[in-house]
Amino acid sequence: MRVLLTKEEKRRHILEYQRNYNKINREKRAEQGRRYRERMMEKDPDWRYNHAKRILSWAKNNRKFLINLLGNKCVRCGFNDVRALQIDHINGGGYKELKEKFVGAQTMYNYYKNRPEEANEKLQILCANCNWIKRSESKNETGGKKRVKK
Ligand SMILES: [Zn+2]
Repeated sequence: MRVLLTKEEKRRHILEYQRNYNKINREKRAEQGRRYRERMMEKDPDWRYNHAKRILSWAKNNRKFLINLLGNKCVRCGFNDVRALQIDHINGGGYKELKEKFVGAQTMYNYYKNRPEEANEKLQILCANCNWIKRSESKNETGGKKRVKK
């Protein structure tokens, strides 16, 4: 019998706990967030602006890092203008994984950024065109049913 949780299982438990906590204490969390923002803005009037900028550049960097890691071009056609490159789950299920394991796309990018081997295994780069084509192909395979609503 296995008693110890793997790192991955622990992570999932913590995420679940946080989600539940946030759900139950929605008001409290909102209040905490409000107070935190007020405090930061007292220290630095431009905090809100700078903070937004930091988040955005963090997000951009995560994406850039992953696209670099995965070869900088579409695996199907070789298209390499990063503006139209997208990170794709090789075996599909990206949406499901996002919903189950992460809070948002950025935390997912961050997760894979810290696990390059797993990223190489599960992710690939497709250009917007090839991604749409792949989508319509897999739609045909599953009879058009793609997303499962809870
Ligand atoms: Zn392509």
